[in-house]
Amino acid sequence: MEPREDRRQEAEGLEEAYLYLSETAPWPRAMSPELLSRLPSFMKEPTPQGDERVRADSRGDLPEPVFVDSGGMIVPEDQGLPAALIHRNFLFCLEPTCGVAYAKTQRSEKAKLGTLGVDNRSTATTILAVRSLIELQADTSLKPEARKLLSFTDNRQDASLQAGHFNDFSQVALLRSALHKATSAKGASGLSHGGLSRGVFEALSMRFDEYAADPEVRGPARAATDDEFRRVIDYYLYRDLQRGWRVTAPNLEDCGLLQFEYEGLVGTDGLLGETELWTQGFKIRDDTEDRFLETPAPLRLCPADLPLPPGNADVILRTDDALVYASDHYRKFAKSYGLRQEFTPPHTPEQNGSLNRSWAR
Ligand SMILES: [Zn+2]
Repeated sequence: MEPREDRRQEAEGLEEAYLYLSETAPWPRAMSPELLSRLPSFMKEPTPQGDERVRADSRGDLPEPVFVDSGGMIVPEDQGLPAALIHRNFLFCLEPTCGVAYAKTQRSEKAKLGTLGVDNRSTATTILAVRSLIELQADTSLKPEARKLLSFTDNRQDASLQAGHFNDFSQVALLRSALHKATSAKGASGLSHGGLSRGVFEALSMRFDEYAADPEVRGPARAATDDEFRRVIDYYLYRDLQRGWRVTAPNLEDCGLLQFEYEGLVGTDGLLGETELWTQGFKIRDDTEDRFLETPAPLRLCPADLPLPPGNADVILRTDDALVYASDHYRKFAKSYGLRQEFTPPHTPEQNGSLNRSWAR
């Protein structure tokens, strides 16, 4: 076996394969319940006896157990490390806690395997530049005007792209760190929507001339400028939380670093505790009269405790691979309901519908 440094190179006369090595979770060497449990559901089918087996058309996709030595040679049993080879497409991750699986229809191997060296040079450059600037700013042995980073490029578009990337990164980092500072200052109670922009504004503690179009204004005009800036902060904060394309800098909620709670939802007088509302219905006031709205059937059928027996391996919770779903906290939550997790392939938002369908079933 030979490693391939750059996946853009075509290997000549060699078969392409993936090698899986693990001390903590080696791939099972023979068919077993453990092996079955590590396969994604689309590779399995139920037997007439109610057990599970590998689908006939998926047998060719099973990883091949091998032994390899330190030189990369495939060797006879017990003369090397146990490993597994994936010969065709990368369909699912062999590491059992990972859970990533790809539909067979996704042919591109490139899209599945992002590597830092090939795809994220802009981010790497930005982070190196930021770090260099922080060091330079702190270096008092240099004259203030010399504490800067000069960058040379042979292409105007590249320079423009990198500058834009750098500015975006600084803005996002500044905003997120201010949000972090503001929420930490509030302690366990956290920030409410009403106090959000004020808290972040104060945490930023920017000089007036850094954001005011006219730094000379005073009195009410100064207060109005601050108000306006707070509204801008509000907008940017919420915009940063939407699902976006900052692949290398997912938002704080997706990273599990920011947690949302909804006022009035849980607790003694919370909406979730009002059983009547969820089982029968509620009154709404029309222009003229009170009308009774029945609870929609799907809600009535969904009691507060999901009636799933623990360890029910047939129930699959299929989500995309946003970090919040892959977090330890969420995994434990899914497990506590006896749900098995599966992830849709990255960059296929059209599969989000399958999430809804599996719940409606
Ligand atoms: Zn994985």
